[in-house]
Amino acid sequence: MGLAKPPTDAVILFDGKDLSSWCTRSGEPAGWEVADGAMTVNRTGDIMTKEKFTDFMLHLEWMEPDMPEAKGQAKGNSGVYLQGRYEIQVLDSYGIPVPGKGDCGAVYDQFAPLVNACKPALEWQTYDIVFRGARLDDSGQVIDQARITAAQNGMIIHNNIQVLGPTGGAMDDKVGEPGPLRLQDHGNPVKYRNIWIVNLPLKGSDKY
Ligand code: MG
Repeated sequence: MGLAKPPTDAVILFDGKDLSSWCTRSGEPAGWEVADGAMTVNRTGDIMTKEKFTDFMLHLEWMEPDMPEAKGQAKGNSGVYLQGRYEIQVLDSYGIPVPGKGDCGAVYDQFAPLVNACKPALEWQTYDIVFRGARLDDSGQVIDQARITAAQNGMIIHNNIQVLGPTGGAMDDKVGEPGPLRLQDHGNPVKYRNIWIVNLPLKGSDKY
């Protein structure tokens, strides 16, 4: 499959050339290796976008390393943290008949993917994710938790689920504030490419 072309209103976060849109969690320059149009996790820590987002559609592609001896959470682990708070698991879960809440595509430890849409290691895979941030009332109470609809490799793995709250490893619990896209360094050389986001309006018009 070729690269999915971003719409004209997309924010291009990684076009294969450099990490100028990214930084470390402490705001230092991102240190992941960039080569051959992809970035690779290299044990220098999580990276996140400098820009923050509220409601959006995200497209991202990744490739699992070939780790035939590794098992479970040690097999090609990374993660895509929406708003820096909600991890969509990245893992080599290829062939697992009934993926669970820790497997690839899961909202980590909250919701398993509806189906196992994983491709084998060393093949490029896609996430297309529609995210709606949490809504708070005037007193700052959460009245509607964040919602996620997601496709992996074109197959729907989440159908408008509502998160229970931030997942483990969230950068904060200020769910009413915009947050960055964050990619997890779990020590395994997962590759990413072609990452873009379309910001979505928080609501439509009240006009009939
Ligand atoms: Mg992970």
